[in-house]
Amino acid sequence: MKRKMAIAVLAIMIAGIPVAWKWGDRIEFMLGGALINAGYRLQDPLISYDFEHENVTPAQVWDAFLDQNRLASSIRARWPRSPRHPVIAMIICMDGRLDSNEIAGDTRRYYYVLRLAGSVLAPKEEEMLELAVDNGVKVVVFTTHSDCAAEKAAADPAKRAKYPELSRALDERKMRFEEFLGRHPVKSRISSGRLIVKWMDLNTATERVEEHRDSN
Ligand SMILES: [Zn+2]
Repeated sequence: MKRKMAIAVLAIMIAGIPVAWKWGDRIEFMLGGALINAGYRLQDPLISYDFEHENVTPAQVWDAFLDQNRLASSIRARWPRSPRHPVIAMIICMDGRLDSNEIAGDTRRYYYVLRLAGSVLAPKEEEMLELAVDNGVKVVVFTTHSDCAAEKAAADPAKRAKYPELSRALDERKMRFEEFLGRHPVKSRISSGRLIVKWMDLNTATERVEEHRDSN
């Protein structure tokens, strides 16, 4: 039933494309988002490619990954997407439930995305972000999220013993973020209004961001 509804929604959306062309870019953008969401709804319930099957082997997972890549890249070769100059850099934990396109509500390539365990910057990422800012990024969105496995590991003595590097990195997260803010080119751009840097709390279930509330 859900699938039939998704297909019906998809058909309505496709039928609406000419209307979108007529009404302008904003509606076309919204309609594109609705079509993408309809695609998510179509794929989401399919469990045949669920990599959590008990009997699935590493070779099967690898084969499925390669098959899907070949299919997706062949479509990309036929209909290439436009390169964009990124204006936003997002730092997001590597948690599989988070999707940068969904967080941005945008599949265009206006975003640099750093996926880091526990959203912990290291000096090389700080430099990479500085390079991104030099290249035209206007906003840096640093996110941490609810139900983070890295945070839980750092808070659990047994897991701290098992994952010492990850735990130590989490201890340094705030210091690293402030270190980035203190880098001279970043600091001067922020003070002159040429750059905004925000630490946001990300709700893992809804992917909504809210201003970070410092619990320390
Ligand atoms: Zn996480």
